[in-house]
Amino acid sequence: MTADRPTTRATGRRRVLVSGAGVAGLALAYWLHRSGCTVTVVEKAGALRDGGYPIDVRGTATEVVRRMGLLPRVREAHIASRRCTFLRADGSAVASLSPRAVVGGAEGQDLEVRRGDLVALLHAVVRDDVDVLFGDSVDTLDQSSGPGVDVTFRRSGRRTFDLVVGADGMHSSTRESVFGPERRFHRYLGHCFALFTMANTFGLSRELVLWNTPGRAAALYAVGGDDEVHAFLTFHRPEPPSGALRNPAAWRDLVAAAFAGAGWEVPGMVDALRGAADPYFDVAGQIRMPHWSRGRVALLGDAAYAPSFLTGQGTSLALVGAYMLANSLAVHRDHRAAFAAYERDLRTFVAMNQALVDNGAATLFPTTERALEQRNTRLRDLRTMPSAPVRAAYTALDLPGIPS
Ligand SMILES: Cc1cc2nc3c(=O)[nH]c(=O)nc-3n(C[C@H](O)[C@H](O)[C@H](O)COP(=O)(O)OP(=O)(O)OC[C@H]3O[C@@H](n4cnc5c(N)ncnc54)[C@H](O)[C@@H]3O)c2cc1C
Repeated sequence: MTADRPTTRATGRRRVLVSGAGVAGLALAYWLHRSGCTVTVVEKAGALRDGGYPIDVRGTATEVVRRMGLLPRVREAHIASRRCTFLRADGSAVASLSPRAVVGGAEGQDLEVRRGDLVALLHAVVRDDVDVLFGDSVDTLDQSSGPGVDVTFRRSGRRTFDLVVGADGMHSSTRESVFGPERRFHRYLGHCFALFTMANTFGLSRELVLWNTPGRAAALYAVGGDDEVHAFLTFHRPEPPSGALRNPAAWRDLVAAAFAGAGWEVPGMVDALRGAADPYFDVAGQIRMPHWSRGRVALLGDAAYAPSFLTGQGTSLALVGAYMLANSLAVHRDHRAAFAAYERDLRTFVAMNQALVDNGAATLFPTTERALEQRNTRLRDLRTMPSAPVRAAYTALDLPGIPS
């Protein structure tokens, strides 16, 4: 064994490995470095994964971004959409509304940015201080043989860390290797979705158009005057399509079957998905775990408590979770006390956000004719009503200060 020992005793600096350079992993790296840790991030992809639909940063998460000094830049990247237009099966309009009327939120406080823009901004604030190993991942984790975690990387050999944090997303392999198979913690919410980009042949600009029939939705989202639009296809399916998830040909067929006979621009979207360079397919699901740490390994963001895209809160939970975990580690020298505090202080916030889809799950994606008609009536009423209030779940946590 050539593994080196943790250097905590020699330098007083904790050495932390973060698996995953997504929103959660990069935000944690920033805060851990600020509080004096030596941080290594390992990312499976060969470069930053800058794809994805626009994501929301809301409420308490906006304050985290402000404390990172990033708020002006995130505001610059904010997608100021002009309207959301809802369509019937035949493509005729139900209602056209401001985004704030639909999702609620506070003007100037809640932000929507391209996922890739946010990841790039987070990377920019850590890249000089943190070692990021792209194109690598953890092969084995062993915390049985001493006061640290012995890590074997697939490419970079073997090293020992004081702590390891799995920020490797919904299908976390850190979670799999330390806590067991995903099925134990995954709660399927009855929808599958595909995201991709396609040519903007629709003349759309800074707007979202959403087509629904019961159990099916198709959206085109133009985030600027771009040549491309973000396309989104989601459908209700009582059982998860387990076999198809990691098989692109199989899930493309699944999507095509689900949208057979659909009107509006949907046939062209299904065709574009077949040739898309950047498709992302997944199920709407949540991760719910009794504990977020075991020994010296903790989980963060989607790996620990994915709320699902139906809540729109995945990125906000990742940012707030990163801050709270770093805070707990800065306050408590003992990692067990730190991980216990992280869980104690964050659980209610996570539970409130995951509960956003408990009743009437997907308000934007009704699964019955009746629910769709009720949704459409509500949308028509919104045209004459004040904007929806900020949801309590977005702001239900007061952030402590991180000791330096
Ligand atoms: C390419 C991509 C596109 C996305 N698009 C959307 C979207 O359009 N809408 C939406 O609501 N959410 C999307 N998400 C999820 C969204 O980013 C998260 O819900 C949210 O930001 C929480 O972030 P996270 O950091 O916990 O997880 P993620 O954003 O999933 O980040 C996890 C990171 O870990 C890396 N990783 C995975 N496995 C390993 C491993 N074994 N070793 C090392 N690194 C690993 C991934 O490459 C990724 O960079 C997307 C995620 C990705 C990766």
